[in-house]
Amino acid sequence: MAKLKACKNCNTIYEGDKCPNCFSKDSTEGFKGKISVLNPEKSEIAQKLNLKNKGTFAIKVK
Ligand SMILES: [Zn+2]
Repeated sequence: MAKLKACKNCNTIYEGDKCPNCFSKDSTEGFKGKISVLNPEKSEIAQKLNLKNKGTFAIKVK
């Protein structure tokens, strides 16, 4: 199984060699916590973390 990584640029959690959201290859396996955002406009935590897209995101990225 591939390891999950978190994008350092936009916090998206993904597998593979680059971020599917912003296409950055700057990633880390050292992330903490994750949230799934379905309605970025309605989610308080998404607004707090400044997330504007749907997806799964790390709460803290080292
Ligand atoms: Zn990204």
